[in-house]
Amino acid sequence: MCGILGIFSSENVRTKMFYGLNCLQHRGQESCGIAYTDGKEINRIMGMGLVIDVLKDHVLEKINGNLAIGHVRYSTAGGSFDYNTQPLLGSIRGQKMALAHNGNLINYQILRSRLEEDGMMFQTEIDTEVILYLITRYYKGDIVEAIFETMRRIEGAYSLILMLNDKLIAVRDPNGIRPLVMGRHKDDTIFASENAAIEIIGGEFVRDIKPGEVVVVDSNGEQSFMFERIAKTSHCIFEHVYFARNDATLDDINSYMFRRRCGKILQREAPCDVDLVIPVPDSGYPSAIGYSQESGIKLGEGLVKNRYMGRTFIKPTQEEREMAVKLKLNPLGHVVRDKRIVLIDDSIVRGTTSKNLIKNLRDAGAIEVHMRITSPPVTHPCYFGINTSSRRNLIASQYSKEEIREMIGADSLEFISIEGMKQAARIGGDKLCLACFNGDYPIDPCVI
Ligand code: AMP
Repeated sequence: MCGILGIFSSENVRTKMFYGLNCLQHRGQESCGIAYTDGKEINRIMGMGLVIDVLKDHVLEKINGNLAIGHVRYSTAGGSFDYNTQPLLGSIRGQKMALAHNGNLINYQILRSRLEEDGMMFQTEIDTEVILYLITRYYKGDIVEAIFETMRRIEGAYSLILMLNDKLIAVRDPNGIRPLVMGRHKDDTIFASENAAIEIIGGEFVRDIKPGEVVVVDSNGEQSFMFERIAKTSHCIFEHVYFARNDATLDDINSYMFRRRCGKILQREAPCDVDLVIPVPDSGYPSAIGYSQESGIKLGEGLVKNRYMGRTFIKPTQEEREMAVKLKLNPLGHVVRDKRIVLIDDSIVRGTTSKNLIKNLRDAGAIEVHMRITSPPVTHPCYFGINTSSRRNLIASQYSKEEIREMIGADSLEFISIEGMKQAARIGGDKLCLACFNGDYPIDPCVI
């Protein structure tokens, strides 16, 4: 999962890029970068770490360009190393091109092997480089045609933002798996993974990039081109379950309202006789509000979040993940002591978070801890950019609900139903990718 941003402006975009990328920080904290141009040369600044650490004032000052793209990285293909940092830079017929990608290609190993057999030498481990090489290979003077030729060969999830010296281009895969939106601020055109990155710099959301669409912006204005291969629209629902900010509105789903509705529906599907509804911050908040409203049970703040802790999810060992949960979320004894509580979280993947939270809440004096999850059990790996790649790590693919309840130590455990979650999305379940919950992949993973 990553965040991407691009701005085409008549002014220097340095500050807007900095604020916009900061706003997408939740989508990736491992590395970040900006490629920019003043119309002559494309330059790049990149580094490991957070936007605020990499793009320090004296570094930002170097950025002088009215066209730029940026990237924040959460590695799902290729390790967390500086050489995998984006945007990538390439060269087509003597002019530079930069590329930022969110998503995962599922056939990139095959494509990479073929390109290697052809003599290509890769500088990164990431699937994005395959896209860059293919565009370069098929470019014969028409960038849109080169992109379409590339799209005919790549399979999987890709929201892309590209730049040439004089053009900003947005591309979304034919299934529309990862989000990509377009906005406007005065004369500026902005593409971003989430609308907040547009709003934070004073702009307005215009629309989502359509599945299979290529939008080109240059000094002549904006042009839209549609890829010929129509695919089934399959927006990733996990964006709204966990990844996107609460203020995201992507493909007509507002994450906050979706989460709140999930909480309400879950309450109707799985009520619980307790004293307090406790959210797991942050994505559990709106759902806990919904659960509390629907049940009439008071909402309480039972966990204090350390906002400066990195992600617990990808720590290499189980022991480290458990310690990290404790550091990240500390129980508020004054609130939970002698209370029967229902804990609301957005998902159970390995079960590490719930198991540790429940233990810590009991240690802090809670007398009953019931768990309610606002997504169905994650039973299938995601090949499209969510970091749940191996089935054996998914607790719900190995154990029954009752076994999981016992393993995490909850007094009761319930998940929202797939139907309930579809209903909360309100855009029609057939437009959603629910593969991690039902194994119904928008593209057959056997292509791998
Ligand atoms: P786990 O502890 O493995 O069961 O993961 C579930 C917890 O991690 C929940 O609290 C989620 O909010 C969070 N989470 C779910 N999916 C992801 C992901 N792909 N990356 C990071 N955190 C996640």
